[in-house]
Amino acid sequence: MNDFLPPDDMKFSGIAASASNMIDPFDRAVTYLRVSVTDRCDFRCVYCMSENMTFLPKRDLLTLEELDRLCSAFVDKGIKKIRLTGGEPLVRKNLMSLIKSLSRHLGTGALEELTMTTNGSQLTRFAHELYDCGIRRLNVSLDTIDADKFRAITRWGELEKVYAGIEAAQNVGLRIKINAVALKGVNDDEIDEMIRWAHGGGMDFTLIETMPLGDIEGDRTDQYLPLSVVRANLMDNWTLVDIPYKTGGPARYVEVKETGGRLGFITPMTHNFCESCNRVRITCTGTLYMCLGQEDAADLRAPLRSSTSNDPLYAAIDEAILRKPKGHDFIIDRDRKAPSVSRHMSVTGG
Ligand code: SAM
Ligand code: SF4
Repeated sequence: MNDFLPPDDMKFSGIAASASNMIDPFDRAVTYLRVSVTDRCDFRCVYCMSENMTFLPKRDLLTLEELDRLCSAFVDKGIKKIRLTGGEPLVRKNLMSLIKSLSRHLGTGALEELTMTTNGSQLTRFAHELYDCGIRRLNVSLDTIDADKFRAITRWGELEKVYAGIEAAQNVGLRIKINAVALKGVNDDEIDEMIRWAHGGGMDFTLIETMPLGDIEGDRTDQYLPLSVVRANLMDNWTLVDIPYKTGGPARYVEVKETGGRLGFITPMTHNFCESCNRVRITCTGTLYMCLGQEDAADLRAPLRSSTSNDPLYAAIDEAILRKPKGHDFIIDRDRKAPSVSRHMSVTGG
C-alpha cells in the first residue's frame, strides 16, 4: 500500500480546524463530533460492558429526527466530521434514515466526512446502503481473529459474521480500519498475526489502550497492556517507520515496512494526547460530553425541545464548549477499584 496521505485524509489534519466557531478555553477548535445513537448492543465485550446491563428506557432517547437536528446544529457551528457510534450503531432501528438525512451536509460540503464505528455484526445487511449514503470509511472493532477468543471477549458475538460483514463492506467500496483494544493475556500473543491479516486484506490496523470507564465484572488492571510495551515487542519482528498520517483522531501512525500497511497507536494512558483534542461527544439522550474522561456534561435535550428555533441550542453548545477541560484523569491502578469515570464506553461511544 503506497497511498499515504491521500488528499481526502489530509482534510482533517488541522486545515479544517480553522473553520470551526467553537474554540475552547485552551484554544482548540472543535471540529469533530462523535454521536452515540444507542447505548444498546448485540455484543457484551468484557472490557466494555458487564453481562447484565441496564439500558436506557426507549422513551429517554432522542428521536432520529431530533438527532438529525442536533447534529445539524453542530454542523452549523463548524463540525467537519461526524462519527456515529454506540453501543452498536447498526442496532438502532431505522438508523439509515438518519444517515441518509445527515448526508445532505456532505452534499453541500459543510461536512467533510460522515463515518461510523461498528462491531461489524450487521454489515452484510447495511454495507450497501452505508456506501449509498456517502459513507466511505468504517472503523470495525475486532480484538482477535481467533473464533473461540472472539466469543469469550464479546460474550455473544460470532467471528464469521464479522468477517462476512467486512467482506461485504469492502465489496461495495468501503475502506475499513480495524481497531483492537490491546488486552494483556488475551490478544497480546496475536498482534503480529493480526497485523499480517489486516494489512494483507488492505486494511489499516490500530491498537487502543483499555480505559477505566464503567463498572465491568473483571479487574481492569489485569487487562491493561501499555502500548509502549507492545510497540517495543513489535520492533523485534517489524520495521516501524513514523509517518505523519492523520485521520482527525488521536492515533499516531507508523508504516510497517514489511507489509506496506499502516499501524496506529491510540494511547490515552501512556501518552496523553489531549493537547490536540478536537472533539466532543453526544449521547442518544442529547447529553454533550466535552471530554470522554470527565464526568462534566451539558444537557442539550432541553434546549432542543424548548423551541423550534436553534438559538437556545447554539447558546447551550457555546456555554458547554467554554467548559471543555484540558484533559482526562484516567488512572488504572490496583489500589483504585472504582473506574475513573462511572459511565460505560457504550454511553459516550468511544
Ligand atoms: N459497538 C461499536 C464497536 O464496538 O465498534 C461502537 C461502540 S464501542 C464502545 C467503540 C470502541 O470503544 C470499540 O473499538 C471498543 O473496542 C472501544 N472500547 C469500549 N470500551 C473500552 C474501554 N474501556 N477502553 C478502551 N476502548 C474501549
Ligand atoms: Fe458493544 Fe462495541 Fe461495547 Fe463491544 S465494544 S460491547 S461491540 S459497544
